[in-house]
Amino acid sequence: MFDLPREAGKLKLELFCQGARVHQNCRLEEDTRPIKRTRGGLGSGLDLILPGNVWVNVPIEEPFAKQSPFVIDRVAGKYSLWHEAQLICQLKLPSRPRWYDETTSSGKRLGDIGVMQGTYFAIYPSDLCGFWKTEPKQSCRFCSVGICYGKTESEEKSVQDVVEAVKAARRFEKITFVHFNTGFYENDSSLDMIIPYVEEVKKETGLLVGVQCPPAADLSKYDRLKAAGADHVSFCFELFDPERFQEICPGKAETFGKAAEKLAGDPLLEQAKTLAVKHLGDTQPQPGQLIFYRALLYCRKLWGKGPVAGEIIAGLEPPERSIQAIDFLGSCGAVATVCVFRPCIGTNLEHESPPNAGELSPVFARQWEAVVRHNIPTGIAPNIRTAMVHLQEEGRCFSSRSFGWRGFIYLLKRVSLKALFRLLIATRIR
Ligand code: SF4
Repeated sequence: MFDLPREAGKLKLELFCQGARVHQNCRLEEDTRPIKRTRGGLGSGLDLILPGNVWVNVPIEEPFAKQSPFVIDRVAGKYSLWHEAQLICQLKLPSRPRWYDETTSSGKRLGDIGVMQGTYFAIYPSDLCGFWKTEPKQSCRFCSVGICYGKTESEEKSVQDVVEAVKAARRFEKITFVHFNTGFYENDSSLDMIIPYVEEVKKETGLLVGVQCPPAADLSKYDRLKAAGADHVSFCFELFDPERFQEICPGKAETFGKAAEKLAGDPLLEQAKTLAVKHLGDTQPQPGQLIFYRALLYCRKLWGKGPVAGEIIAGLEPPERSIQAIDFLGSCGAVATVCVFRPCIGTNLEHESPPNAGELSPVFARQWEAVVRHNIPTGIAPNIRTAMVHLQEEGRCFSSRSFGWRGFIYLLKRVSLKALFRLLIATRIR
């Protein structure tokens, strides 16, 4: 059914879209990480490791997952994945993080400060996203952040709490990367809130640090963020289709739309518009989207090619739009991070159907092709495996393009030796 490990990326996409049922033999509570929705809008599932060291966060709680043909079973203490009655592969599960139950010096549970996602530690450090607080709510319609806030995570996390939790994650999980994520803050202040955390974590641990915040209108804040030690930034504009952006992300569309009005005539805003129009082809971007693209272009200049990403959700707009978004990001020298829409329980979109994996395949093919075509570095940081999204190289199995020598030279230049070795073995050099 799947030629593993070569096609582990395809299996990962099927699992995102169909979820899995859990056989009663499984003892997940004892054997692996708890299911937590601490951060971000779409995470809700079980982290598994497929052949080829491909990590995947599999939905198991949503109604669609209860109908899935995939089953996770445990036989003689070993986990495996089945498709109806056919064995697909053996599974590894990350071990249960008993350290989550330890506390910081202020008495906070470490597991309430952040969450392991794949092989990195993810932290949503502070106040609830402002779009969840408006009346009526303007939160993104797929998002579950406001549902988890104060339940599966601590509402307040001091810089010291966060540093202690990161050190524990490094000690127990050997993490190399910490990812910070915030929601929307009034007065263009999301980055002001996050910078002290970045600065202290970098100073105290030296780990690689990534940040995903709503875009700042005052671009000098990105200079401060870089000086604080951030190694990676990403921008979650979610949807490239202007109409869908407005429907799905009403807070972002309105708030950043107003910010764009104030910046009328700004050269970088104009450049962002020109580039977006070039890829959209038949329509004009929303002003609110341009604020994301403007910040992304600025960061691309500041950090260079590779450490800047744009995050989109596939399955909430036509695949052709997702492909346009990937091409747009590639032309900016940025990486596309492609989440797969998951109708999480309790969200406004909980009754929607998950997307069809076959329809999304060309999106993941393009994700890989874009980094090669635009010669964008990827896979360089050590030991980073993402469970919620495909790594760029995990999209290689979707693409029928070989790129010939260009592709080979890309791999040699841009992918770390260890990752390259693993990739060539997994894909049997084509
Ligand atoms: S900006 Fe949207 S996706 Fe992000 S936390 Fe707020 S509501 Fe959720």
